[in-house]
Amino acid sequence: MINLILFGKPGSGKGTQAEFVKNKYDLIHISTGDLFRNNISNNTELGLLAKSYMDKGDLVPDEVTIKMLESEVNNHPNAKGFIFDGFPRTTVQAEILDQFLITLKLSISMTIALEVDENLLIERLISRGKDSGRSDDQDRTKIQNRFDEYNKKTSPLINYYKNQNKFFDVDGVGDINEISYRIFNTIDNNI
Ligand code: ADP
Repeated sequence: MINLILFGKPGSGKGTQAEFVKNKYDLIHISTGDLFRNNISNNTELGLLAKSYMDKGDLVPDEVTIKMLESEVNNHPNAKGFIFDGFPRTTVQAEILDQFLITLKLSISMTIALEVDENLLIERLISRGKDSGRSDDQDRTKIQNRFDEYNKKTSPLINYYKNQNKFFDVDGVGDINEISYRIFNTIDNNI
């Protein structure tokens, strides 16, 4: 069973690449951002709560995010593996994910980080915001806040997974198919 984490700053291409990886390795793709957005569209209580954080570019509190993630994993008892996209984003989330997977007799196989310069990311996010209407992609202050959240709360995970020898970098700039190829190579050479 392969359980992957796709890691990277907002706009680094996690969602796009997760789809390719999911198809190639027959994994269940879990995107916490997508799950929150679905809850917002369906006007659920969880959506209402998440929206107040997401609109500002803040992270949603750990306990809410973790509960949602665990229930999504539990919904797929026959999965051949998972690709986590946008989760974990804090050390607490990473620690709880490890413990939760142990209870299922599973573990993270590897973490793949998409490396993209912040200036390029801002351009990508602004252009995505125009197409998708995502409010957190349309405002430079919110985008900057998401980078600040990442740098403060998420970047410590690089060392967390390096310490477990599970961290791999991939250049996230270039042709989409070329980037997928780099990711597939990284998986195949290190799994
Ligand atoms: P991006 O990585 O491009 O910012 P996502 O769709 O992954 O987009 O996330 C959008 C927003 O959803 C985040 O800014 C945050 O508010 C919330 N979110 C997603 N995943 C998490 C998480 N693991 N922990 C806390 N908040 C999250």
